[in-house]
Amino acid sequence: MLNFHQVLVIGGGTAGISVASQLKKLSSSLDIAIVDPAEKHYYQPLWTLVGAGVFDKKESERDESSLIPKGVEWYQEQAFEIQPEENLVKTKEGTNIYYKYLVVCPGLQLDWHKIEGLEGSIGKYGICSNYSYEHVDYTWELISSFAGGRAIFTHPNSPVKCGGAPQKIMYLAEEAFRKQGVREQSEVFFQSANASIFSVDKYAATLNDIIKKRGIQADFKKDLIKIDGPNRRATFKDLETNEEETLNYEMIHVVPHMSAPDFLKSSPIVNDAGWVDVDPYTLQHNQYENIFSLGDASSAPTSKTGAAIRKQAPAVVSNLYSMLKGRQPWKKYNGYTSCPLVTGYNSLVMAEFKYNNVPSETFPVDQGKERKSMYWLKKYGLPAMYWHGMMKGRM
Ligand SMILES: Cc1cc2nc3c(=O)[nH]c(=O)nc-3n(C[C@H](O)[C@H](O)[C@H](O)COP(=O)(O)OP(=O)(O)OC[C@H]3O[C@@H](n4cnc5c(N)ncnc54)[C@H](O)[C@@H]3O)c2cc1C
Repeated sequence: MLNFHQVLVIGGGTAGISVASQLKKLSSSLDIAIVDPAEKHYYQPLWTLVGAGVFDKKESERDESSLIPKGVEWYQEQAFEIQPEENLVKTKEGTNIYYKYLVVCPGLQLDWHKIEGLEGSIGKYGICSNYSYEHVDYTWELISSFAGGRAIFTHPNSPVKCGGAPQKIMYLAEEAFRKQGVREQSEVFFQSANASIFSVDKYAATLNDIIKKRGIQADFKKDLIKIDGPNRRATFKDLETNEEETLNYEMIHVVPHMSAPDFLKSSPIVNDAGWVDVDPYTLQHNQYENIFSLGDASSAPTSKTGAAIRKQAPAVVSNLYSMLKGRQPWKKYNGYTSCPLVTGYNSLVMAEFKYNNVPSETFPVDQGKERKSMYWLKKYGLPAMYWHGMMKGRM
């Protein structure tokens, strides 16, 4: 029997579930399928607070089967080849699936191997990462038992999902060290491959003030290249001079390099960097008009977040639906993304911006300031909006 669907979605994560749910709401008779091998889905934004001891990691997890919208067929398989000329996706398990429209959103991959010595050391020797569900609770183990010395937080030389997450956990740790009475005998270092603390000037100004006020040492254009777990030594390359420097640490929070999934990199639908090559506004493929992409895997030049997907999904859904009805795609995504910059256990700077790093704020207050209300929004409001709104196709 031929496997054919009007709409095939690769990846049933934040983006894939949002798009499939919204499409089903628009037209319940649409024939939609999702291909995704995952058993579980994670609300990854919670991991910042899990690493800081606020939530148990189980609270970020749901069965993938509970999220697949009613009436959508699920291939619990791994896409591994896309043949856009044939309108065909092949899975690793050997299934051929044909489509009329394809939505590509398999997220990105974590390249742990790109930092020498990291694979095999993560989760021990004082090396933690909120980017790994498996090890996110080790972050809190290290923070809560920290007895002084040097704590390093890194940001890699690659695009990352949630550009603020590498530093959010640092502010939480710094506050925890103060509460635990060990701050005076501690050094907190931010070693970032970026050129500045944040890409949007308005929020960067606030973060620079916080760093100064709280005695955090921030160093830029420093890329973690090597880690020696047993001896607790981390080597950074200066991206301007190429000089290497090795620092000792008691704990280090590492953010791995990230890139497009390998099967995408070798497909004909990506740009030179490996991301699915779409128009930044309509999110339609630049060459194949029956392909759309959104989320972390797309080439849309914005910060890769779930918040961005909340605004991308309606554009993809509307444009795809227009095409199904024989009309041209017209709905435009403006690059909106958001980064709830947690700066402590009761404070948060709610960064919201669009293409070209122009602030695009929702609330009638100065969002460049640290606010308790925004922290509570992150802690309780956003997870509820995610599970009951986005994942159900309601927003
Ligand atoms: C620590 C951390 C903190 C974050 N904080 C925030 C925040 O505060 N705010 C915010 O908005 N965002 C935040 N994010 C980012 C946000 O979680 C991601 O941007 C978002 O989940 C991306 O959605 P996606 O659908 O593109 O990918 P994902 O949700 O990762 O889903 C990708 C799906 O594709 C599937 N897949 C992969 N390969 C294949 C394949 N070959 N075939 C089929 N399926 C495949 C996977 O199994 C997965 O289900 C954070 C992320 C992390 C890790």
